[in-house]
Amino acid sequence: MNTVSVHALSTGHITIPERFFVTPADPVAKRTVPSLSFLIQHTDGETGKLTRLVFDLGMRRDLNLYPTALRDHLASRGPISTHPDVVASLAAGGLGVDDIDYVVFSHVHYDHVGFPRDFSNPKTKFIVGHGVLDLLSGKTQHDLGKHMVFEPDLLPSDRTTELPPPNAEHHDRFSWERLASFPQAIDLFKDGTVYIVNAPGHLPGHINLLCKTSNQPAKFVCLAGDACHDVRLLTGERDIATWTDETGRHCCMHVDIPSSKETLARLHAASKHGIQLEGEDSPAQVEIVLAHDWAWEREAKQKGKFWPGRL
Ligand SMILES: [Zn+2]
Repeated sequence: MNTVSVHALSTGHITIPERFFVTPADPVAKRTVPSLSFLIQHTDGETGKLTRLVFDLGMRRDLNLYPTALRDHLASRGPISTHPDVVASLAAGGLGVDDIDYVVFSHVHYDHVGFPRDFSNPKTKFIVGHGVLDLLSGKTQHDLGKHMVFEPDLLPSDRTTELPPPNAEHHDRFSWERLASFPQAIDLFKDGTVYIVNAPGHLPGHINLLCKTSNQPAKFVCLAGDACHDVRLLTGERDIATWTDETGRHCCMHVDIPSSKETLARLHAASKHGIQLEGEDSPAQVEIVLAHDWAWEREAKQKGKFWPGRL
């Protein structure tokens, strides 16, 4: 049975007050966290064709390339690092942007979208979750904080696919189906190596990537994006934070807290008990990797899991 290789990419850091992501929190504590991206390499079992996918692009290398409204917000997120960015991190292992077939976004907050225009090769396709295009165009609005700024021209329309609604029934290439304890997943290569998993709550179109990295024992890595910003939310030791900003606005990292909690409960269950796939004797292990997990980043650096190293 086929597997994929998964490689962490260093794509910048931001600093967030702890009270914005967990409650109870230390009122003055701040965390400088990575905004991780990943390279996934898939070889077709029959044709031997190699496909390279990047999940998220992290921070934009030049903050001046962000819209003005976001630059104001970023003034409150320092220290920030943007070097290396995704282009430099890919180059560290000998790859260029032209080697990438797909860019898949967990969601389209500024700290995950990088600078898509770097990926200008006509062969490179973008994949986003359902609802993302309405968010980018401004048709859908959530006034939950200064970070909720989106760019209508972020993605090239002729090379971007928005996934169908997760409750939609039949679709040719991208059909949502149950996968063990995940109610909605898309088998991207139709060989059980990479699943796009619906992970609602953080932002419309928020998706995770479940990648099979080993057969014996069966093991998946779940790239969980911003399902949460702190492992203590996964384990239930803390709750999701909300706050009121200086203008009196109600703020939260997540647009839909109940959905976020369901997503977190599913991820936590998968990490504890694994997922039982059809035809397998025992559950496959699942390692959850959050985009902003600073402790995971530190250990992954020590263990050489950053490209050209692998998870
Ligand atoms: Zn984020």
